[in-house]
Amino acid sequence: MKVWKRFSYLLLIVVLLGSQVALPDFVPQIEAKSLKDLRQELADMEKKYEENKKEQQATQAEIDKANANIKKLTKEKMEIEADIDDLTASIEQTNKDIAAKNEEIKDIIAYYQLSATGEDAYLEYVFTATDFTDFIYRMAIAEQLSDYNDSLIEEYQNLILENEEKKETLSNKVVELNSKTKELEKTLASLKVDLSKTVEGAVDIETELKTIRKNLENYEKTYKEFKCDESEDYQACLARHPDQLPPDTAFFRPVISGRVSSNYGMRTYWLNGQKLTEGHAGIDFAVPHNTNVYSVAAGRVVAIYNKLSCGGNQVYIAHTVNGKKYTSGYMHLASIKVKVGDVVTSDTVIGKSGGVPSIETWDHCSTGGHVHLQMATGHYMIDYLSWSGYSSRTFNPRNVVNAPALGKSFTSRTRKY
Ligand SMILES: [Zn+2]
Repeated sequence: MKVWKRFSYLLLIVVLLGSQVALPDFVPQIEAKSLKDLRQELADMEKKYEENKKEQQATQAEIDKANANIKKLTKEKMEIEADIDDLTASIEQTNKDIAAKNEEIKDIIAYYQLSATGEDAYLEYVFTATDFTDFIYRMAIAEQLSDYNDSLIEEYQNLILENEEKKETLSNKVVELNSKTKELEKTLASLKVDLSKTVEGAVDIETELKTIRKNLENYEKTYKEFKCDESEDYQACLARHPDQLPPDTAFFRPVISGRVSSNYGMRTYWLNGQKLTEGHAGIDFAVPHNTNVYSVAAGRVVAIYNKLSCGGNQVYIAHTVNGKKYTSGYMHLASIKVKVGDVVTSDTVIGKSGGVPSIETWDHCSTGGHVHLQMATGHYMIDYLSWSGYSSRTFNPRNVVNAPALGKSFTSRTRKY
């Protein structure tokens, strides 16, 4: 369903190993960040983005070069094919010429044979000097013509051989050009894959930076409103807010009923006759399209992404459950019913489920109606700003959210399995 790049595959192994070591009784690191720290983090991300942009430009240049080479090879191939056509026509013409010459030789031989018949006549009748001269003359001419035609035919035959050889060389060249073109197309395909986003939920950097900038604007307002010092921890400043992040004691499933259709971890599947292994960073709940999706616990909406090419509409909610910090992520939503900053409870419908390819056409990482729930430690957009930061803190949701076994269904959000 989702194709991970090698990098994310490695990243997941690290996450898996990390989660196995640190879970189930892991303690999320408390990453106190001030507005000043967050500004610096954004600046670092922007710098990295500029670097990535250069890298992408370099990749684009490679793509352009490969495309230009393919165009050149195609043109070269077409020219060679035209040459081959010319040679074929030339060989045909030469064959016709040979046939014509053969006819001429036949005529000459016939003429000669006629003379020979005449010779017999000469033996029977009186052989005059004039007759003899005429006979010798005709013989010589016939012989000369025949020799001439023989050498001409030989010349033609050599020409045909030469042309056939040229044709073969050119045909080999066409084969060579074809394989070169194929190679370039392969390179091109791999370059295009490098540029596309294939990690489920991955946010393109431009959208990400836009979201972070907007969040920081809100933080600045909070700092001003509560007269916090810019180097003061954001959580501490936010704690003065009357509408602070509500603590909770448990996580519930995000849908009332459904079926576990995919577990967290490595999974193997077949695509176009190829066995692929990929990492799945969350747990999938198969549900009908437009099913209510709830927050897994009380919390605050920290990020929303719309119509991403691999993950569609997404909501991220920060929670503090039993004193530990988490962020839940919900992917492939058909619609979103909350906005960034909203305080939610576990009864809040945050959106409706999607993931149906014919409906959520922008989302290329889902093959059927489902909700992808992803859990990470810490508070996304508060303790860390980058999506890759969220992704690297991902752990198996089953460690905190109870769910039946793979393939099994449930009909409540709370029943223990
Ligand atoms: Zn999933």
